[in-house]
Amino acid sequence: MLALRTSPPSFGIAEGERIVRDFYGLAASITPLPGERDCNFRLRTADAPGVESREFVLKILDVAADVGSTECLIAVLDHLAEQDPALPVPRLFPTQQGDAIGRFSRDGIDYAACLVSFLPGQLLADSAPSGALLHHVGVTLARIDRALQGFFHPSLTRRLAWDVRRLPELAEFSSYIDPPALRSAVEKVATALRACLPRLRALRSQAIHGDCHAANLLVDAEGLSVRGILDFGDMIHAPVIMEPAVAMSELLTEAVAPLESASALLQGYAEGQLLQSDEVELLFDLITARHAVTVLVHAWRCRHDPQGAQVLASAASHSGRSLAHLLSADREALTRTWHEAAGTSPRLARPVDLARRHRLMGAGAELFYAKPLHLVRGAGVWMYDGQGQAYLDVYNNVPHVGHSHPAVVAAIQKQTAILATHTRYLHENILRYAERLTARLPAKLNACLFVNSGSEANDVAWRMAQLASGHHGGLVMENAYHGITDAVAALTPSTGTPRDPRVVTLAPPPSGLRVDHAMSRADLDAAEIDTDRAVERLSERGFAPAAFYIDTAITSSGIFDPPATWARAVSERVRAAGGLIVADEVQYGLGRPGSHFWGFERRGLEPDIVTLGKPVANGYPMGVVVANRTLIEAFQAEFGFFSTFGGNPVAAAAGLAVLEVLDREALMANASATGNYLREMLETVAARHDCLGAVRGTGLLLGLDVLGLDAVAAKLRTKRIINILASEFRILISYEGPHVNILKLRPPMPFGRGHVDLLVQAIDAAAGAIDAGGN
Ligand code: PMP
Repeated sequence: MLALRTSPPSFGIAEGERIVRDFYGLAASITPLPGERDCNFRLRTADAPGVESREFVLKILDVAADVGSTECLIAVLDHLAEQDPALPVPRLFPTQQGDAIGRFSRDGIDYAACLVSFLPGQLLADSAPSGALLHHVGVTLARIDRALQGFFHPSLTRRLAWDVRRLPELAEFSSYIDPPALRSAVEKVATALRACLPRLRALRSQAIHGDCHAANLLVDAEGLSVRGILDFGDMIHAPVIMEPAVAMSELLTEAVAPLESASALLQGYAEGQLLQSDEVELLFDLITARHAVTVLVHAWRCRHDPQGAQVLASAASHSGRSLAHLLSADREALTRTWHEAAGTSPRLARPVDLARRHRLMGAGAELFYAKPLHLVRGAGVWMYDGQGQAYLDVYNNVPHVGHSHPAVVAAIQKQTAILATHTRYLHENILRYAERLTARLPAKLNACLFVNSGSEANDVAWRMAQLASGHHGGLVMENAYHGITDAVAALTPSTGTPRDPRVVTLAPPPSGLRVDHAMSRADLDAAEIDTDRAVERLSERGFAPAAFYIDTAITSSGIFDPPATWARAVSERVRAAGGLIVADEVQYGLGRPGSHFWGFERRGLEPDIVTLGKPVANGYPMGVVVANRTLIEAFQAEFGFFSTFGGNPVAAAAGLAVLEVLDREALMANASATGNYLREMLETVAARHDCLGAVRGTGLLLGLDVLGLDAVAAKLRTKRIINILASEFRILISYEGPHVNILKLRPPMPFGRGHVDLLVQAIDAAAGAIDAGGN
């Protein structure tokens, strides 16, 4: 049977004073305090010369009624004092004998005296709380729950009527509820809650306070912050979300604060304790269930415990009204608001989501994977969907130092709260960033222009190269990608843009040629002849080369890692024809090669211009063009240059944080170690499968060839492996190359050996399925 009756032990003032004297050696005047289960007294020690009077609360507990709860209460107060000594919760004082409680009997019944600190403040019940106060209630509850994380006591699993998961049992007494409308509302809520039980059981659980109501909350005189949370006697082991749910249910009745202020409380809680989408989805059921419990306990007591019913009368009538109000509200809209406050994402019905996307973004807006993903959060090398499911990110180089890296987030947050303007004002951040960046580049690359993307950086570099060379032709690698502006699209044969007569392509280096290989004379001759022919083709069209653009990982052409002699041979021919060398480091820069900080260093190139994008600010939009100051100044003089957002103080702060984290966490060394290990493991796994071929690239930008009977079969297999990895292993990769037959692996830089093992096992399994299935 659930404990529905309330019968606190009854002790008089004189008895209380004697207990305080006997156990604690204190002479104190005492006054009664209300209590549902315990007999409570507030006590103030007598003034004595030189000794300030102090205040305490004496609790007298009926030990026999619940031995476990008494033990649990002592243990939890100790635990909280240890874990978070500054928490505004009561502290336990030992008896003169050093015991946690004083044990005694009266009329054959065992009792425990327990002395705790008296917390000053006024009850929240006595005032209408502001949004700020409700937010602080949430923050404080989350802090208590964080401190409670490691706590357990067997009595936390006892059957408690106030535990909303017991509502279906309690609803057996629904016939005690008088107004039929209220009775049927309670029954409806009980049925809904019963259906939620399996989902509730799947949620993370821990010890929670579980009873945050207005008479358990002390606030300061201004009503701005929480001064104390009382009564740890109703603690249970339960889903974490039940903590804010109970508080929201108890506080957001018309007796205290309107339901609309629920968001403030929830937001405060979520700030201290990240919530998950599944938890927020259940809030409505839990909040209504708590109201139903209050109504039912009251109805039961009206029949069997009239004194106890009186204590609960006003709460029950508020709960009845709140229940009616909630049941007539728009549940979906409320839940959406709560998701917003908690920073979680609503469950979306996919077809609706896709149709909406097509309507708003055009049906051509590309999505990865046969079953598109809806991701809501990232941390390190992981991303998470709304259900909290983790996905290993082996594809994104924008979150270079890891998704939402705290140092970058903090730098952005801090600067954006101070000032976000542009480079027409002096600012320390952008200068410091330019200094730190150029310090990592060859001496002649000593000045920067700031833009907002890789495309813009390449676009600016294009005009700069034309100005410096006086030429207007471009050389790019076959199937190169350099961006989306009109000018850069012409330098981007991979997107199938109509060929611009000013742009010609160069053949990639021979496949299989690795950085540490010696290049044969014949191969060198071939590269030189190919470059000279390209220059000739330009000249036949009336152009000379302004620049040779090279993505230093030669990514979209198929991921190549040729020896330095290859790039030198090509670049010397370009220079001989009067062209500049533009190293596009959007893919490879900032340590990704592992062996070098810049891709052009690994290629053996001495670029005139370096362009940066994607990883520089870890996701905050930023692009940089670095060149010699004379080139930059010539460009400024000819065209003038200003980009509204380019190089703003927030972007610069993010860029600085990225450079700092790269060094602090030795991520380039990690790219080398993990990259080597990944390469080795891929070679081993490729050797086991007919459908896998060569490993390409180095550091943390690798490719793995997928083989098939013909190009179409290989492409289909590539896509199949990628989809198997995403849907069955929750590992995210993509494809690369002119024939779409290369698995592209380009994870955030903190990728480690354990992640490699997960990835390689998954590729092994997917390739096994393909080998077995034959397609
Ligand atoms: N250059 C290279 C080598 C790239 O890979 C990309 C983006 N994929 C760009 C330039 C363009 O950068 P953004 O998308 O920031 O304009």
